[in-house]
This record gives sequence, C-alpha cells and structure tokens, in this order.
Amino acid sequence: MNIKVRFAPSPTGYLHVGGLRTALYNYLYAKNQGGKIVLRIEDTDQSRKVDYAVENLIAIFNSIGINFDEGPENGGEFGPYYQSQRLGIYQEYIQKLIINKSAYPCFCSSARLEKMRELQIKNKQIIKYDRHCLSLSDSEIESNIRVKKYVIRLKIPDKGEVLFFDQVRDRVIIKCSEIDDQILIKADGFPTYHFANVVDDYLMGITHVMRGEEWLSSTPKHILLYRAFGWELPKFIHLPLLLNSDRSKLSKRQGDVAVEDYLSKGFLKETLINFVGLLGWHPKDNREFFSIEELIKEFSIKRIQKSGAVFDQEKLLWMNKHYLKNLK
Ligand code: GLU
Ligand code: ZN
Repeated sequence: MNIKVRFAPSPTGYLHVGGLRTALYNYLYAKNQGGKIVLRIEDTDQSRKVDYAVENLIAIFNSIGINFDEGPENGGEFGPYYQSQRLGIYQEYIQKLIINKSAYPCFCSSARLEKMRELQIKNKQIIKYDRHCLSLSDSEIESNIRVKKYVIRLKIPDKGEVLFFDQVRDRVIIKCSEIDDQILIKADGFPTYHFANVVDDYLMGITHVMRGEEWLSSTPKHILLYRAFGWELPKFIHLPLLLNSDRSKLSKRQGDVAVEDYLSKGFLKETLINFVGLLGWHPKDNREFFSIEELIKEFSIKRIQKSGAVFDQEKLLWMNKHYLKNLK
C-alpha cells in the first residue's frame, strides 16, 4: 500500500502548536512508511481570508524542517494545493450527488432558518434543518433556481447509524437521526469544509486522515459522503486534545499558542519538534530526547494516546535548555 497523508490547514495567519503537532505526526508517519505528505490549503471560507497566511506557514515549515512532497506545479516549483483553485472540481462532484439524490438544493431564507431554530430550542429538540426543501417538486426547484439564492445540502439517511473505526478511539457510532443535513455548497458557490475536504482526500488518494480530535464529530458526515459517492474509506486517526496544565483546553491565556512566537522567543526548532512530538505519542521506553530522524524511526500510530496531552510550559523550557547547552 502506498501511504499518503495530508496536512490541510485553513489559513488563519499563524501556526497553532496543535497544527504543528498534526503536521508533524503526518510527516513522521509518511516518512516512517516511505509514503508521501501533501500540503493542502483549505481556503474556501472567503470571509476568513488572511494575506500572506500561506507564505508564513510555508516559511515556518521550511525553517523547522518539515517538507511536503506534493502539490500542483507552480512556476517550476511544487506549491501546496489551494482549494480555492479547485472550485470547478467541487461543482462537478456535487452534480453526481444531486443526480443520485444524495444531495438537494435548499432555498430557505436565513429568517426562516432562524425561526425554525428558535422553535427547536423552545421545544428542546435537536437543532437541525427540518427538510422543508426536500419535498419541493422538480418544477418548483426549477423556477426557484432562477430567482433565489440557494445552498446544496447532503441528505442524511432517515434511519440507521454510522459506525466507523478510528485507529485511536476504536469504535465510534452515531445515529443518523442526530446528524444535520449538512450544507455542502454555500450560497456563494463555494464548497463547505466537509465537502471539499472529502472530495480532495479521495481525489488526492489520501490513505490515512490524521487530524485533531475536534474533527471527530465531523467524521460521520464525511463517512456518509463517502457512502453517497460509493468510495472506499481512508483510515481515520484523531489526535488527542492539547490541554493546559490545569487540564483545560489549551488557550492563549496560559502561554503562547503560535509556533512563530516560540521561535521568536528563542526556542530551537529541535526543542519544538521533540516537545511537540511527545504531545500525544510516546516511545516504547521512557526516553525523552529525540531528533526528527529518531522520531521518524520510532513513530507508530499504535502508540498515540486517547487522553488529552498536557502542554507543559516548564518541560518545554527545560527541554530548550538541554538543546541550547548542546549547541555550545
Ligand atoms: N481545514 C481543517 C483545519 O483547519 C482540516 C481538518 C482536517 O484535517 O480534516 O484543521
Ligand atoms: Zn430549505
């Protein structure tokens, strides 16, 4: 099997340490397996565009020593994939789902959706789209399409459940009745994260989807998309949450979260790789110090932990002292 993984950030303007951990684990796994790692920029949210975000990201990875293997050729160089340059592909693939009745247009106004939400909250129901537009006739759809704005939604099966195996969390199961008819194409014609992410993982031949635990709850929707297309599933690996020392979710309040801040404060790349490498993964023994080459050799998905990983600032300082001493 030719292993292929990806790091798929949405450009936010800085690299979060959690993003570095995801990129690093994907890189380590790819190199350990003689596979490839793809960089894919998930920039389909037009409202969140940040200038130079990608340039910054690439500069950080270059300085840290994580190199990507694949992307479209751009002036003789291999750059990352940009989803915003692949809009035609998503349009082509959404048509397949409309034709096989796995997706449908929704013309509801935001005012109607807002009212529906309020009512569901009041009645203590699950908040999800009420499928008003699923029952429109073909001729109603045709006349609406000419005059109204619309989104395209995934039709979640009425009954049954989604069951999948995550290589860290094991068996995950969720009832279809708890899943919303997810928007796949927005009113501006751009795909949502869910749709572009799945189409690209499939088209790029991604064999292992390794990402933060916050995406675990999106995975059932992704699996339903794979089913709707009739595609084989990749393997899923969800990495444990990063926590502050008091076990709350890692936040800026207790220390920096941007990799560039650590670099500019004098933390060495060797320290960051070593420290982040042990945030959720551990070696066979109690060894603490690893170069990137040694991490590549030792890394395995089997030893990724389920429980949250504490980002211990003290340990980071201690580790940096060790590497600084060895510099001299
Ligand atoms: N664009 C998502 C992010 O910002 C990607 C999540 C995934 O890897 O599927 O993290
Ligand atoms: Zn609707």
